[in-house]
Amino acid sequence: MVSTLENQSLAMIREVFSSLKAKSLELRSEEVNRRKDRLRALRRWIFQNANQLQEAAYADLAKPPIEFDAIEILYVLSEIKTAIRKLDQWARARPVDAPISMIGTRSFIQYEPRGACLIMSPWNYPFSLCIGPLVSALAAGNTVLLKPSELTPRISSEIKRMSTEIFDPSIVAVVEGGVDIAEELVRLPFDHIFFTGSAGVGKIVMKAAAENLTSVTLELGGKSPAIVTKKAEQDDAAQRIAISKFVNAGQTCVAPDYVLVDKEIAEKFVEKLVRSTQHAFANKDQFPRIVSTRHFERLVELMGEAVNSGARVELNGTTDSTHNFFYPTILTNVPLSLRLMQEEIFGPILPVLTFSDLSEAINIVNNQPKPLGLYLFSRSKRERELVLKNTSSGGVCINDCAIQFLHHDLPFGGVNSSGMGKAHGHSGFLTFSNEKPVLRQRNGFTSVKILYPPYRVNIQKLLRVFMKLFYR
Ligand code: NAD
Repeated sequence: MVSTLENQSLAMIREVFSSLKAKSLELRSEEVNRRKDRLRALRRWIFQNANQLQEAAYADLAKPPIEFDAIEILYVLSEIKTAIRKLDQWARARPVDAPISMIGTRSFIQYEPRGACLIMSPWNYPFSLCIGPLVSALAAGNTVLLKPSELTPRISSEIKRMSTEIFDPSIVAVVEGGVDIAEELVRLPFDHIFFTGSAGVGKIVMKAAAENLTSVTLELGGKSPAIVTKKAEQDDAAQRIAISKFVNAGQTCVAPDYVLVDKEIAEKFVEKLVRSTQHAFANKDQFPRIVSTRHFERLVELMGEAVNSGARVELNGTTDSTHNFFYPTILTNVPLSLRLMQEEIFGPILPVLTFSDLSEAINIVNNQPKPLGLYLFSRSKRERELVLKNTSSGGVCINDCAIQFLHHDLPFGGVNSSGMGKAHGHSGFLTFSNEKPVLRQRNGFTSVKILYPPYRVNIQKLLRVFMKLFYR
């Protein structure tokens, strides 16, 4: 494929890559304390630059400063704190007992850094989804190239400034740019690629990585359902669904994409949902905008199709196309065949569908690709078990939505179409490490030696007795 990039940019990218690759070899034998120093430097920088980061996020997305602090900064600080506190324990070689057939051997698992890693991030939480994985990658002892989203240029340039101010460029480098740059980066033989973004681009990344047999973590999205049964605490459910759906203007990978509510309570529940949404998002000045005109127009199209197909507008959000504002919108009577119910909405439109019994809701979920999150509102243990046992999703949150993302001791990630590999806390450390098994054999006589050729009949008899004794 002919590259659209200038030779100069290509040469720069290759030079950055070579220097990260060379340094990654040195980092293999480095003290764990040096990794902690880098994390501490990152933490200091974040505290010193929190205001500039907030301003950048406002310029890019009109993100309310409190929301930026509460979701993006707090999450990164929590990841840093956990990593610093637990790194000695995570990085320590783990002894493994010998099975009876390996008696006399000693084994352990060594956690070695993967090497030079590429982290590519999206625009919706442009700071935390870039820096969160960076924390895990540095904790595991890697060198890292960050490629933030081109759709949030102010945050992207803050991330670049951060790297030049606190990191050796052969340990952390930032390359800014669009699709052409991203396509070149994924072609390079990195030791690992950590990609957060859409499923479509995830496939492109995985194909390019396959050429080099580079391992990948894909953090994708999907249609995460929120199921509300008759046994739900309805006021809580309405409030929690409204907040997690419409925060960040619905541009959240773990937001509930649509609601499935029991027919018997549907009418009342929709009223509560509308009231909770109006109450929480009454101040339009505190509502973020849609990231680009392309994304805005896609939402307008989805909405138009739904209304033309007979969907009922329960809350009419209104739009402002001059600044890409699209306010919370709630729909009912939405046919499953619509694009709105076929693709991830990723915006402030919430379709509410109904079901007659829980197995119907489970069927609707199972007829969609596996989602990133599944949310169930119910006080019934039987209903919880039924849903947990009969559905598959990246994660589950019961009686709330999306907050599973913020729990640093829970592995976070998708399954199949919503992603592969896990992030956050210890799982993030493991993602950026090679779990290397090391087995040490004793000298002289060993149990395995009994089986060496030339084979003798009496050894075979002994082997049969051994199998019957220990493996039956
Ligand atoms: P995107 O896939 O368009 O872009 C993500 C990154 O990929 C950007 O850095 C972009 O420059 C790069 N990219 C774009 N085209 C590329 C190509 N052809 N080759 C290589 N790289 C390319 O995603 P987005 O629109 O920024 O983000 C929205 C999507 O991300 C949604 O689907 C959402 O669900 C998902 N998401 C997932 C998570 C998660 O943690 N699982 C978090 C946030 C967002």
